[in-house]
Amino acid sequence: MENTMTASPSPISATILGSGTCVPSLERSSCAVLVRAGGCRLLFDCGPGTMHRLLKAGVTIFDLDYIFLSHFHPDHSAELVPLIFATKYPDSYRRKKPLTIVGGQGLQRLYDGLHAIYGPWLELPDGMLHFVELDTAQADRRRFDDFTVHSMPMVHNPESVAFRVSGGDGRSVVYSGDTDDNDNLVELAEKADILICECALPDDLKVTGHLTPSLAGRIAERARVRLLVLTHFYPECDQVDIRSQCRRTYKGPLVLAMDLLTVTPGSHDTPETDAGSGLAP
Ligand SMILES: [Zn+2]
Ligand SMILES: [Zn+2]
Repeated sequence: MENTMTASPSPISATILGSGTCVPSLERSSCAVLVRAGGCRLLFDCGPGTMHRLLKAGVTIFDLDYIFLSHFHPDHSAELVPLIFATKYPDSYRRKKPLTIVGGQGLQRLYDGLHAIYGPWLELPDGMLHFVELDTAQADRRRFDDFTVHSMPMVHNPESVAFRVSGGDGRSVVYSGDTDDNDNLVELAEKADILICECALPDDLKVTGHLTPSLAGRIAERARVRLLVLTHFYPECDQVDIRSQCRRTYKGPLVLAMDLLTVTPGSHDTPETDAGSGLAP
């Protein structure tokens, strides 16, 4: 079970809930990352399977304070409907604190569209469900309870943003969401403690709108991040040496994500050892 004691400021940490994609996989659930920042529980993306992975991480849906959506592709957002619906069981008043959902422009329209279909099944008591739309044309910055979030537009969908969460102790986690190569991500991730970066396909299978190991590595190198965590692996990634491809451009500490892996600032400070590899042997 997770430790729920409230030391302040608590160190920031990130648990990969889903290191996969839209492709069904027993090893790699769809995209989701749990970030603990101070006393808050933040979910970044909410792909199918997220609620089960949350339980494995010792967190229930009632513990979540915020859900941040990097964009609206179903493998990043589709568990929103069952999650809100499950919040109503056994009754809508079990949740004791508001749930705030944050995303790019169009977030409210996404919910309104889902609500047009599901109606009261997606409603929570007054004041318990909030939506915050970030600027998707330029950088944005919001202060929440125990943390601050900076966002920058990414190159994937019109609503796509990446997030930088900074905790009370100044430590930071950056989550790229889906994106192609771009300078905004370098700027957002500047000297971040942890960069969780998408790495959809191997170098020789690059597709528009996504990164490869060497491109993600180049971004991390330019941004001088303290730890790079590669994630969002299509099955092709598990057939090749992703680590070596990333090492073409990046020399710092490197982790390949696996589901339920937790990283904290400074937990992988030795680049030579590549400690904490998420790859199966
Ligand atoms: Zn996408
Ligand atoms: Zn994706």
